[in-house]
Amino acid sequence: MGLEEKLPSGVLLASVEKLAGLGRKSSLWPVTFGLACCAIEMMGTGAARYDLARFGMEVFRASPRQADLMIVAGRVSQKMAPVLRQIYDQMAEPKWVLAMGVCASSGGMFNNYAIVQGVDHIVPVDMYLPGCPPRPEMLMDAIMKLHRKIQTGPVSGKLDRTEIGNSPYPKPI
Ligand code: SF4
Repeated sequence: MGLEEKLPSGVLLASVEKLAGLGRKSSLWPVTFGLACCAIEMMGTGAARYDLARFGMEVFRASPRQADLMIVAGRVSQKMAPVLRQIYDQMAEPKWVLAMGVCASSGGMFNNYAIVQGVDHIVPVDMYLPGCPPRPEMLMDAIMKLHRKIQTGPVSGKLDRTEIGNSPYPKPI
């Protein structure tokens, strides 16, 4: 008799990785962190019309110690870079970073000395989202793609960030 026949019906079998991934992706809490115009779209995504709360993400945390997702929404100035890194370091593991918009991803049209040419110079990025600004639908799509990566990722929660090709979105130029 197989194991399935011995067990009573209604028992769910899953791996630890899958359970951890399910719990993590269903309760991502973003840190409250907006840098420029993209942040307006991020705030719109959290408001009633787009209702990010449907995905267990209604709580934008003011404390990085209570957050596990950093949405870098806007251009990163050289002066802001050490602050961003400090906030990232204060977030608990496992944690993820989404570069929202072309400025956060690669500096965008701000190709000058004052702007960091991609936030991946400061912190590891798990998801790049193009657009100027990306609409709330695009941000939600990127978040759901990140959900899938977390769900299927290792139990440590650390994704392979060395491969940019790992992101469904190519890094914007
Ligand atoms: Fe602003 Fe566009 Fe840059 Fe977003 S990508 S911060 S909307 S200029």
